[in-house]
Amino acid sequence: MDRRKFLKIAALTTATAAANKLAYAQESAGKAPQGDDATTMMSDSVVWNKAPCRFCGTGCHLQVGVDKKKGKVVAIAGDRKAEVNKGLACVKGYHAGLLLYGSDRLTTPMLKKGDKHVPISWDEALSIVAKRVLKDPSGFAFYGSGQWTIPEGYAAQKFMKGGLACNHIDPNARLCMSSAVTGFESTYGVDEPAGTFTDLDKADVIICWGNNPAEMHPVLFSRIIDRRSRGEKVELIDLGTRRTRTTDHADHYMEFNPQTDLAIANCISQQLIANGTYDREFVEKYCNFRKDNDLSNPTLKGDATTFEDYKKLVAEYTPEMVSELSGLSVAQLQHLGKIFGDPKKKITSLWCMGMNQHTRGTDINRLVHGIHLLSGKFGSPGNAPTSLTGQPSACGTAREVGTLAHLLPGGRLVAKPEHRKDAEEYWNLPAGRINPTPGYHTVKMWEKFSTPSDKGGDIHTIWVQVTNPGQSLPNLEKLFYPSRKLDDKFLIVSDGYPTESTRHADLILPSAMWVEKNGMVGNSERRTQQWFRMVEPPKGARDDAWQTIAVARKLYDLGFEGMKDKDGKFIFAMQDEKGKEVPVWKWENYYDINVDKQLFEEYRLFSRMKHKNLAPYDEYVKARGLRWPVVEQKDGTWRETQFRFAAFDDPFVEKGKKIDFYHSTTNDGRAQIWFAPYTAPPEMPDKEYPLWLCTGRVLEHWHSGTMTMRIPQLRRAMPQAYVEINPSDAREMGIANGEKVRLVTRRGQLDLPAWINGRGKPPKGSVFVPWFDERLLINLITLDAHCPISKQPDYKKCAVKITKIAE
Ligand code: SF4
Repeated sequence: MDRRKFLKIAALTTATAAANKLAYAQESAGKAPQGDDATTMMSDSVVWNKAPCRFCGTGCHLQVGVDKKKGKVVAIAGDRKAEVNKGLACVKGYHAGLLLYGSDRLTTPMLKKGDKHVPISWDEALSIVAKRVLKDPSGFAFYGSGQWTIPEGYAAQKFMKGGLACNHIDPNARLCMSSAVTGFESTYGVDEPAGTFTDLDKADVIICWGNNPAEMHPVLFSRIIDRRSRGEKVELIDLGTRRTRTTDHADHYMEFNPQTDLAIANCISQQLIANGTYDREFVEKYCNFRKDNDLSNPTLKGDATTFEDYKKLVAEYTPEMVSELSGLSVAQLQHLGKIFGDPKKKITSLWCMGMNQHTRGTDINRLVHGIHLLSGKFGSPGNAPTSLTGQPSACGTAREVGTLAHLLPGGRLVAKPEHRKDAEEYWNLPAGRINPTPGYHTVKMWEKFSTPSDKGGDIHTIWVQVTNPGQSLPNLEKLFYPSRKLDDKFLIVSDGYPTESTRHADLILPSAMWVEKNGMVGNSERRTQQWFRMVEPPKGARDDAWQTIAVARKLYDLGFEGMKDKDGKFIFAMQDEKGKEVPVWKWENYYDINVDKQLFEEYRLFSRMKHKNLAPYDEYVKARGLRWPVVEQKDGTWRETQFRFAAFDDPFVEKGKKIDFYHSTTNDGRAQIWFAPYTAPPEMPDKEYPLWLCTGRVLEHWHSGTMTMRIPQLRRAMPQAYVEINPSDAREMGIANGEKVRLVTRRGQLDLPAWINGRGKPPKGSVFVPWFDERLLINLITLDAHCPISKQPDYKKCAVKITKIAE
């Protein structure tokens, strides 16, 4: 591809590339990195190294320019050798270097005394954390992140499940992609997409299900737009509840009433069967049918059913019936039915928060997989149901390392004796050390933390790393603030900057960020990526993995049995190449060896059971990421896999089979096509609260804005949150553009400036608020209702009213 053309197109999409100071630093010197060396390039005094972008799950590779004399990141460029982004980055990626240099970096541990945080030493801080563990190991919880690097998440996982024998560890990824996990698990018996981003280069039709990649995954979106610019016909369908920048490029915008995506999916299946256009051979060879017989108690495995029963169940979802319910026209629904029924069309479905943050999140995920299976649009390039992630390692750390409360590394379950036995063997722990009861999921963990101990609130300490629950949890008045008034509850927060979470913490630990530490992450297409530390963190800030290991060592020194393996050795004992133990728990020795490499090599042993095989660490040093399963070839090279379960590419497909779902939940090599009915959401607009409230993200800011709001260019471009209101609603309520209005839900109220005909355009009866702005916390008023299977809350729909604020 011609890079110049690619860049030009990307700029035209409005979603992506923006020239900036950092990018200019290398361009103006005329010495942009050529990407010929996998790790290091020299340009005068600037050293260039590869690193994946710190932000979204697209996982673009960047070239990071470090001024050797200043010891600072001074330039960023897209990495031309990276297959994901082909030298491009979006506005956030180009500014990523500046995320390190906000003026208020945290540089010393701080303990809350009275109303103030006072500086304390690292040693004192580590002792305080260790004492909280000793006080009540089973009431100690770890709340992590899809931004944890793989080694960081793995260390935390081992600390909790192997060391404390306590499973109360969950990542913020519970809030963004756990419905995708349960969708994959219950359909294929194993998590994560079968396809990759390569499908976007091959598909004839791309359907965005409640998804706005133009703003959320801009470089990925540019790949689609670029194909069009080269004359390829790519039909883009935007199925959404609000017009966005993705809509601007869509061939079809199909606006549906919130929650009716369930009915739309069933309508596509109904048409495939009624018109005889489903792929009978694919279904008969590779699929079973499933549903939940007891809808009040749905489960991950559900109950077996038949094609005939499934046909009866979807029969009522005719285009006419679903048109009434969803607001889509009959013609639009028939168009969806027609393209899925056309054997010549290759279709890729994309989704992210719109489908996952849903009180029926598991079900809508299952239904979209079901449409692809029923139509045979699976297992060939361009045909794939593909979920996207918002965080750089939601897949790599939360899902693969298994930092969710019910998991062990590599897809193992704490509830399964043979899986616990595996982990105990890999970790050399005494048999029976790992607790068989799943820990609390995110909402439950914070609910228990905010409940007084004598009323069943059995979580007494939470250690937060690399996330900001004080802003990101739903219904904050219920889940976050009450604990702050309870004397026996103790909140520890590790972060690089002050946040709404650190402000309310009892103990703050200052963390190193991004290229101030070694790291590995896993993006949305199963691509594991690696980078080396390039600059020193500010004096006093330290790696999160070091913090975990150092607390573990404190506990070991205090005689806590859990931090010893069955031979009495420290569970994080590490040796150098000569076999000499290195005291990595001492900060001055932490980088004497590559701790990331040691943790990763231990972790990758876990990856084989679910055929998520990882290559040795050194292979990732050479590559711009590799997509698992990565399997060694006869000549000693390592080969990645682009299309899982398909014989032409997946090495684990049984010989003689074309498609093989080798982790089938029914143990017969088949995937499950699920039926799930439409049901109304738990809260809908009514007389008192007449509007829908949807929350989400914007192009310029990444999640809670902790990093991007400290990047002046991004902050200036999008300085504060707002409420998007439909012009006709605004007119009826007499609201002017920019006027401050009050949003009121059953949980609280928030004042925001109105944006009418803004970037996003909600339909009449609906408003949208972004959540990046800590000064305007929209999660004070959102709902904490969640999917019964994935436990993921629904931030996308609740009932709200708007009132004018008296002058
Ligand atoms: S934010 Fe996402 S799309 Fe933008 S450069 Fe980073 S990884 Fe790529």
